[in-house]
Amino acid sequence: MEVERNHQWSLNDFEIGKPLGRGKFGRVYVAREHKSKFVVALKVIFKQQLEKYRIQNQLRREMEIQKSLNHPNVLRLYGWFHDADRVFLILEYAHNGELYKELSKRGHLTEKHAATYILSLTKALAYCHEKHVIHRDIKPENLLLDHEGRLKIADFGWSVQSRNKRNTMCGTLDYLAPEMVENKAHDYAVDNWTLGILCYEFLYGVPPFEAESQADTFKRIIKIDLRFPSNPLVSSDAKNLISRLLVKDSSQRLSLQKIMEHPWIIKNANPTGICN
Ligand code: ATP
Ligand code: MG
Repeated sequence: MEVERNHQWSLNDFEIGKPLGRGKFGRVYVAREHKSKFVVALKVIFKQQLEKYRIQNQLRREMEIQKSLNHPNVLRLYGWFHDADRVFLILEYAHNGELYKELSKRGHLTEKHAATYILSLTKALAYCHEKHVIHRDIKPENLLLDHEGRLKIADFGWSVQSRNKRNTMCGTLDYLAPEMVENKAHDYAVDNWTLGILCYEFLYGVPPFEAESQADTFKRIIKIDLRFPSNPLVSSDAKNLISRLLVKDSSQRLSLQKIMEHPWIIKNANPTGICN
């Protein structure tokens, strides 16, 4: 069961519960829809904030994109409504909160755990890319876990819809300039790169190019200064996958399909996406 999608919602439809967290622009509460008893997360954003930072259009784009997506590993946006000074987003409730917290608590994840998350993420991204949505802001803070420990990508604030429908349906690149084709390939592969970073961070507890300063991190990324510490002990399959994603030439990065078929994923990931 879930909340009705095209209903004209208002605050009166919900019983507001405990606060779940706060972000740059809003606060999030657990809430229950009176009629269906369905539990959701209600994100409240003050219109004043939207105006102050001139992000009305960004939010609208974020909402349109997220509402059009329906995948088990993408946090659902069921709908939205507003009153005089606030916008309310009706979101799927992720009972187990941020993956980031779990990672800090455990230090690093087991290979089974990490592979299950990477597979879930890869499936979610394959679905998004198929719909021409590039997330561009995948990081542990934007990954939430539901009551069964299933990963959900949240926060489409920086995502873009890369091509219009017409291009898609015609399925032809004949009329596109080389730099546009290049640019497209580049944009999508941004998310593949991030999968390599995350896979490393899940297994080692720190991102691969961490450094004292931003400038040093930048240098390490440019050089692809990738090192695998001997502790914790990580399998060569995992290192192989990471090395094939953190590749400078974006066209040479492992495709999402190939990630799903990679021996490390096959050996370690739980295809149901449930971690315990
Ligand atoms: P930003 O303003 O950039 O989105 P943010 O991601 O930190 O920043 P929110 O998305 O507003 O802020 O979320 C704030 C916090 O509330 C999250 O970090 C998370 O802990 C919690 N939260 C958000 N959405 C949900 C949800 N659907 N289910 C459970 N907890 C959530
Ligand atoms: Mg966020």
